[in-house]
Amino acid sequence: MGIGFDGVEHGSLDQDWILDVHEHHLPELFLCPQVNLLSLFEQSYAGWTLRRPYPLPSEGWGETAPKPNGTPCRWEDLKPYLEERGSNHFVRNLIRGILLVHGQEGDHTLNASNWERLNQAVIQSRQDPGFQARTLTQSGIGKIITDAYTQPTADVRPVLGKGYASVMRINAFCMGYHAEVADHNGNRAWELLGQLGGVPQTLEAYLEAIGHLVSSMASRGQVAFKHALAYDRSLSTGSASFKQASEVWGKANASPSEKALFEDFMVHFFCDLAAERDLPIQVHLGTAWIRGSHPMRLASLVEAHPGTRFLMMHLAYPWSRDLLGMAFVYRNLWIDLTWSWLLSPTHFQMALHEAIEILPDEHRMMMGGDNWHLEETVASMHCFRDLLSEVLDEKVRRAYFDRSTANRLRRRILHENAQAFFKL
Ligand SMILES: [Zn+2]
Repeated sequence: MGIGFDGVEHGSLDQDWILDVHEHHLPELFLCPQVNLLSLFEQSYAGWTLRRPYPLPSEGWGETAPKPNGTPCRWEDLKPYLEERGSNHFVRNLIRGILLVHGQEGDHTLNASNWERLNQAVIQSRQDPGFQARTLTQSGIGKIITDAYTQPTADVRPVLGKGYASVMRINAFCMGYHAEVADHNGNRAWELLGQLGGVPQTLEAYLEAIGHLVSSMASRGQVAFKHALAYDRSLSTGSASFKQASEVWGKANASPSEKALFEDFMVHFFCDLAAERDLPIQVHLGTAWIRGSHPMRLASLVEAHPGTRFLMMHLAYPWSRDLLGMAFVYRNLWIDLTWSWLLSPTHFQMALHEAIEILPDEHRMMMGGDNWHLEETVASMHCFRDLLSEVLDEKVRRAYFDRSTANRLRRRILHENAQAFFKL
């Protein structure tokens, strides 16, 4: 391949190029002039070492808000990331990314003597229109599917570039029984549909409006649904009829069980739509509302929709073995390794060894970074390549398979499986 991300001609992508199936590259953060070194820590998983960006059912939003863009970068704000939380892999990964993208020879870590220079480099990079595409090409990334959850119905390509596709997050629509209901990202279904042509008055009209929205996904470069309900509720999905859901529709004071009924109905509705339109569903599993995010909670849904293609994310950390067992049983499951090695590279390598052995064929795994800023994405991809190579080398060394099988599997995981799965 002669050209790289977004048609950029600097460097070229080799046969091990990456199709990154999941990022949170948001239009509002693209070349944002307020982004500095502190923003990268605050708005990355390193920031999650300080506070989760999503509240648990027992918490309020006040405890979770990160510092806004434009907050000046001071050493006393950076230092705790390096000296208090410096053992955490999210922090290690981000530091590696900052040095890979902005470091000079001799920069072995981020410290009191180089942080001001690196902060300036981060600020300046956002003034360079070619920064994003060139950096992605240099990292061997040829295409990205982003989950721009702040604008779930937007076409991101005019801002982010033609190397991007996106997914449509369905949380707000699954929860939208009433005008005021918002998902954990603050999205309201009635508002989103209102912007596109009018607020539906009945559940029937609501479903029809969603059907229209889905029909136009391809024109917006949207290639799949994203189910991130593990941040809003338990993943367990019961069955619910249209009649039951319509009794909840428009109710200002619906009870928790009525809300759950409505959401259950809508999740099944989206699974049916996905099968009808042959659109995959990416599903967040693991952590989140951790009491409800075990992958087995989705087993009945997966079983009820054998024609729907589910892309199960994050190796359902910490329940990777349970997920791999499910993926052996249910042949409408695929595995998105995204984020799992960022949580724990050690666990990831063990799980990847097992995944290679247990998955029924070589077409099941794909990968993505799950990051907001480029520096974190670059480090994630470097880290993934290293970990994947070590696992494949080990498999060859132990004569589990030969080098040519290892190389074929590497290409499949890096891009071929995702190309086929998303029909890109
Ligand atoms: Zn994500």
